[in-house]
Amino acid sequence: MVAVVSEIVPSDLDPIFKSQPKLSPEERALVVRAYHFAAEAHGTVARKSGEPFITHPVAVAQILADLHLDAPTLAAALLHDVAEDVKKIKIEDIERAFGSEIAQLVDGVTKLERLPTDTAAMKNGKAGDREAETLRKIFLSMNNDIRVVLIKLADRVHNMRTLGYVDPESQIRKARQTMDIFAPLANRLGIWQMKWELEDLSFRYLNPEKYKEIATQLAVRRVEREKYLEAVKARLVKEISALGIPNVHVSARPKHIYSIYRKMERKRIPFDQVYDIHALRVVVPEKVQCYQVLGVVHSIWRPVPGEFDDYIASPKNNFYQSLHTAIVDDQGKTVEVQIRTPEMHEHAEYGIAAHWRYKEGTAHDKQFEERLRYLRRLIESAAEDVSADSDAQEFVSAMRSDVFQNRVYVFTPKGDVVDLPSGATPIDFAYHIHTDVGHRCRGARVNGAQVSLDYRLKSGDRVEILTSNKRAGPSLDWLDKDLGYVQTSRARSKVQAWFKRVDREKNIALGRDVVDRELRRLGLSGKPREEVAALFGFAKVEDFFSLVGYGDISAPNIATKVLEADRKAQREAAANELVPTTEAPTRPVNASDGIDIMGGSGMLITLGRCCNPVRGDQIVGYITRGKGVTVHRADCPNVINSPETERFINVNWGSAVEKAYPVPIVITAYDREGLMRDVGAVTANENINIADLRVQTRNSIATIFLTIEMENLEQLSRVLAKIEMLPNVIEARRRVSM
Ligand code: MN
Repeated sequence: MVAVVSEIVPSDLDPIFKSQPKLSPEERALVVRAYHFAAEAHGTVARKSGEPFITHPVAVAQILADLHLDAPTLAAALLHDVAEDVKKIKIEDIERAFGSEIAQLVDGVTKLERLPTDTAAMKNGKAGDREAETLRKIFLSMNNDIRVVLIKLADRVHNMRTLGYVDPESQIRKARQTMDIFAPLANRLGIWQMKWELEDLSFRYLNPEKYKEIATQLAVRRVEREKYLEAVKARLVKEISALGIPNVHVSARPKHIYSIYRKMERKRIPFDQVYDIHALRVVVPEKVQCYQVLGVVHSIWRPVPGEFDDYIASPKNNFYQSLHTAIVDDQGKTVEVQIRTPEMHEHAEYGIAAHWRYKEGTAHDKQFEERLRYLRRLIESAAEDVSADSDAQEFVSAMRSDVFQNRVYVFTPKGDVVDLPSGATPIDFAYHIHTDVGHRCRGARVNGAQVSLDYRLKSGDRVEILTSNKRAGPSLDWLDKDLGYVQTSRARSKVQAWFKRVDREKNIALGRDVVDRELRRLGLSGKPREEVAALFGFAKVEDFFSLVGYGDISAPNIATKVLEADRKAQREAAANELVPTTEAPTRPVNASDGIDIMGGSGMLITLGRCCNPVRGDQIVGYITRGKGVTVHRADCPNVINSPETERFINVNWGSAVEKAYPVPIVITAYDREGLMRDVGAVTANENINIADLRVQTRNSIATIFLTIEMENLEQLSRVLAKIEMLPNVIEARRRVSM
């Protein structure tokens, strides 16, 4: 089979096989077969130039062979216009004849042929939209197989070379499209050869006068320039040889008209002063030798300040590496010098195509992984690392989920490409754009239609994030894996960070307000917050506030703890009261007439603040100095430990002691009809009595002093809160009257 085919190898293919000599006999046979298939399909059709159509796919395959691409790429290049231009041939036919790999490449290129720039509908759109749409399609096909894009670029290079045969209107349109889309794409992929050729060919049609002017000036001085460069080169080779570096290649760099034009424009200088008109390239085997050569260059000639760039230490984002410098020679002429290794050179010339170059015995899968990773790095020019504080395990899982999953390529409203793991949602997209956009994300439109935030983005989607203007944050739901709002580890860590940091701040502020309000109600505004936090076992007041803000510690919790502490403090103070004094003890009271004492003798009765006896407790009375009788619980430590047994009297909860624990409170309100009735209703509902009611009204502000009697302190906070919720009430708090 191979022998038969090779007998009829058309001479058209000779240059291709010469450019790509490493193809196996089987691979050559494949290319030959593709040639015959294409030649037959295109038949007698001619191009606008009058040549047979087959010359075009052959030229495209040649460009790719010059990039040393593999046999399937070359075969697909030969077949690339078959399905597009020949109606009777379908992709299925190609698949049957050449297999799915080649069929998919051809199909990809065929789909790219129908660029939206060429359709009537897109002509009505804005230029930016058209470019975005085109790039969108190109990147989509890259997602499948980058070779599709390489074939498309080669196709465009040949079409631009032969653009002279089409009508002027098409020339301008194609040139514009090439300059706007294909040249930047070649640049992005690092294929300088294609970039420069596409730029120069476009420039020729877009600005014919300037192109001609620069081309003429280059041509006029070509002999002179080449002679000069030969002399410089000879000197350089001699000096480098003295270093003992073998295999040094010094060559004059080809001139690119468009780059000269750009420099003239950018620096506003005439043609003569453009440095890279005289340009040399030095290729040496080792990286370290690049710097040695740089030293030599700078020692022979004077370097031009600001023209040195070390792209070896800091490669460009398409991985381009070289040393760049410019020097001024003895005659005042400037020469640009690039220094690189063969590997850097290959990369610079072929870019991403270098990864598809024919390699013997390489496992396909490994190569494929390498390509994909390379491609991703190219596209993710602004890829951010996972947050710095995440630990190693998180990092590994981030790598697994973000890098090794399949990707989707979606677009911003401006047409920028965003690369996300498959399954990503609008929230992932939002966080990719900017952390703040993620935090404020409230909705999304995909291709103009509103979608839910758990929508799975698809390659090619145009995504627009709807944000809230208010200072808002992410939802806790976003962290729930079952709900699937967030797919990327980047977005997840940003959401988590928000809840850790921003929400904590919010909770602290909220908690602080709650504590302030509660202490004000309790008449303890002046109490240090640290003391309150300490009651709950917190060393840091912020930790305490954040739990209050979060709702783990309620206002009644605070009231209870604070009042308990308050009582304890007073108990200690009361204990001091019990310390024996030198004063004469007051008259002992007979235990049996306790009720009489309470009811009839007019002695002042107070309830001990140390133990706060509540109705039903076992109690004893203690005769105080000048205060009458203080009633304590029988088990009150102050009672048990007191040596002054003679001061104790028996008391009981006679009818005279109706009072429960009295709490004086003060209510401030804008005076209104029925205010007191409403306050009374609140206390009645809580089974609380009101005593000592007094109202002052000044400038229509009512200040109500009252004492409420409660059996249970936990009621206090609730009652005060309920009173505060009444209309017109400004504040209700415990009054501290000592
Ligand atoms: Mn074509």
